[in-house]
Amino acid sequence: MSFSIPAFRSDLLRWFDANARDLPWRAVLPATGRPDPYHVLLSEFMLQQTQVATVIPYFFRFLELFPTLSALADADEQAVLRLWQGLGYYSRARNLLRAAKRCREHFGGRVPATIEQLLELPGVGRYTAGAIASIAHGVAAPIVDGNVVRVLCRLDSIRSDPREKTTIDQLWARAAAIVPKKRPGDLNSAMMELGATVCVPKNPQCLICPVARHCAARAAGIEQTIPPAKQSKPTPLEARTIYCVYRNRDKTVEFAFEQRPSTGRWAGMWQFITRPDDGQNEPQLEIETELGTIAHQLTHRSYRFKVVVARLHHRAKLNATWLALEASLDLPLPKPHVTTRGMVHAWLEARRGRES
Ligand code: SF4
Repeated sequence: MSFSIPAFRSDLLRWFDANARDLPWRAVLPATGRPDPYHVLLSEFMLQQTQVATVIPYFFRFLELFPTLSALADADEQAVLRLWQGLGYYSRARNLLRAAKRCREHFGGRVPATIEQLLELPGVGRYTAGAIASIAHGVAAPIVDGNVVRVLCRLDSIRSDPREKTTIDQLWARAAAIVPKKRPGDLNSAMMELGATVCVPKNPQCLICPVARHCAARAAGIEQTIPPAKQSKPTPLEARTIYCVYRNRDKTVEFAFEQRPSTGRWAGMWQFITRPDDGQNEPQLEIETELGTIAHQLTHRSYRFKVVVARLHHRAKLNATWLALEASLDLPLPKPHVTTRGMVHAWLEARRGRES
């Protein structure tokens, strides 16, 4: 079968015009007929590794506090992390803030339009640069994300592993050939939307697919086997103990918090005292009760946190910041520690109930 790029584009765009999801970052500015570049930048950072439905409330909350790129560039990192709390992959939040500052310092306070300049922004790779350039600025730049990989592999019946470099290069070249000068952002969005809603990983909806007549995998009846399944590796399990160390101060119960290092996972965020769970308890701490276990799954790692309430032994020292539980609401905490705070709150309430 022959693949006609103009016919493919027109089938896909017609479908997109009728079926595009109404997403808040897609609202167009009357002046340009395209979305606000700041909104596109923000949504692209948030959507990395995260579902649309999860991102929407965060997107609105961000715009409420930081309505413009310059408001974000002025923001304090802890405030940004706090707002990002629960969205995960916190390096995105720090990069977003650094990108906003860079736009102010190097690009006149605007989100740049060329791929080269966009690639200068922290946290912006080839995909994000292409998305911002095409969607926000109408540049005919290709994009290849997980959804586009699947759609392209099926359209062209590519059976090699799309995680291999030669296949990746082939897909970028194909995407570049398909993206038009007119409406490049819409075409790119349509490709992603098709992958997210119709050409889904399991059971693609070929019967309602707007580009089925162009699809080589469908014609051969092999769409279910493309792309080939990834060999899953077991994810390493990290065991930790969260020590909710408390002390009584003037009728207030305070808990010990520590800040994480400025690099690595959850960098710069705060947490209850957390140590590797190696079967040994911290010698300066006396465990009062165990509250339970929290499992936390990341892409390449699983965590198991044992949560205990503890007190410092007499005269023992702990390098920590002591805060009442309510005051810790101002700190950005990784999700397992937000869960821990809820457990501690319930424990405190139960304790107060027993005492009254
Ligand atoms: Fe995907 Fe099926 Fe459409 Fe081909 S016909 S692009 S496999 S949904």
